[in-house]
Amino acid sequence: MTRTAIVTGAARGIGAATATRLAADGHAVAVLDLDEAHCADTVAAITDAGGRALAVGANVADATAVTDAVARVEAELGAPTILVNNAGIIRDNLLFKMSEDDWDSVLSVHLRGAFLMSRAVQAHQVTAGWGRIVNLSSTSALGNRGQANYAAAKAGMQGLTKTLAIELGRYGVTANAVAPGFIVTDMTRQTAERIGVGMDEFIAARAAEVPVGRAGYPDDIAAAVSFFCSEEAGFVSGQVLYVAGGPRA
Ligand code: NAP
Repeated sequence: MTRTAIVTGAARGIGAATATRLAADGHAVAVLDLDEAHCADTVAAITDAGGRALAVGANVADATAVTDAVARVEAELGAPTILVNNAGIIRDNLLFKMSEDDWDSVLSVHLRGAFLMSRAVQAHQVTAGWGRIVNLSSTSALGNRGQANYAAAKAGMQGLTKTLAIELGRYGVTANAVAPGFIVTDMTRQTAERIGVGMDEFIAARAAEVPVGRAGYPDDIAAAVSFFCSEEAGFVSGQVLYVAGGPRA
């Protein structure tokens, strides 16, 4: 069945792969990111393949922007009943060097963003009596040096997910989280730059720690999100699926 999906942070990386995958699954997809113009490539990939997509510029941490964006999706693509909270940033630093702004901005985009988007979209899901929410967590939720802010946000995403599952289940809405390990994207390129290692070397070093012996790619995550969004996943809710090539990456 065709639904309307919103994928946040979908201009690139995991969000772009997820938007493309959900469109291939038959859904109309709102490609939401900070700058509408940056969504053009993802929208073109979807429409070139015969799908339906809409570029939407919005900051997920801004309540008014979120309300306006969801209203625009409803008007132009149809009431959204699938939501993937993927938008994210990193501001890594050891605790003693971490600024208040590093802390606030990371918590704001990941957690406040997922809260605002979920609150806006659940209204349409409850009306439809059907919905899927998938939140992007991370293996960093288990703790990661230099990421006190990000680890706290990604652990928070898991608590949010489980609570949404409990509150919204009676309306036919499931909420699950995907927790990726090391995935090759601009975000991990940023980490390689910060620690002064070339990306190829960084990928090889990280892949050596992964039981399946390779790095992850955005399509690996998109496939897991697609499962949680499917009709047949209706009895799977409040779960966290680590997609990391092993139990920890
Ligand atoms: P990415 O390549 O950096 O893409 C993130 C996207 O989110 C960017 O297009 C960015 O826009 C957008 N964004 C940032 N702040 C936003 C905001 N306030 N409102 C709307 N959009 C915003 O990241 P990625 O690696 O694909 O990661 C996607 C998600 O997976 C994130 O939640 C991340 O924490 C999680 N994750 C990634 C990995 C990994 O190894 N890559 C591992 C675990 C979890 P701009 O380009 O304009 O900044």
